[in-house]
Amino acid sequence: MDEKELISKAMAALGSRTSEAKAAAVKRNGAATRFQAKPLAEIPCDCVAGNDAPDSAHRATCPRGRAYRRRQKATAK
Ligand SMILES: [Zn+2]
Repeated sequence: MDEKELISKAMAALGSRTSEAKAAAVKRNGAATRFQAKPLAEIPCDCVAGNDAPDSAHRATCPRGRAYRRRQKATAK
């Protein structure tokens, strides 16, 4: 093994090393940024359809209708 190869292996080992503090930070950051989609039923309706109407019945101006269409578009891909 030449010097270059040895340094490369040493750096790879250092880079992939994990510590308790690092693992804790990853866990903490992951928990903070993980996206939780709100159930559509919890989004208040402000159009004529009403809170008990099916999601697709809401207008594009209604927060619930917008959320429904956005999610439909996102899952259609
Ligand atoms: Zn609505």
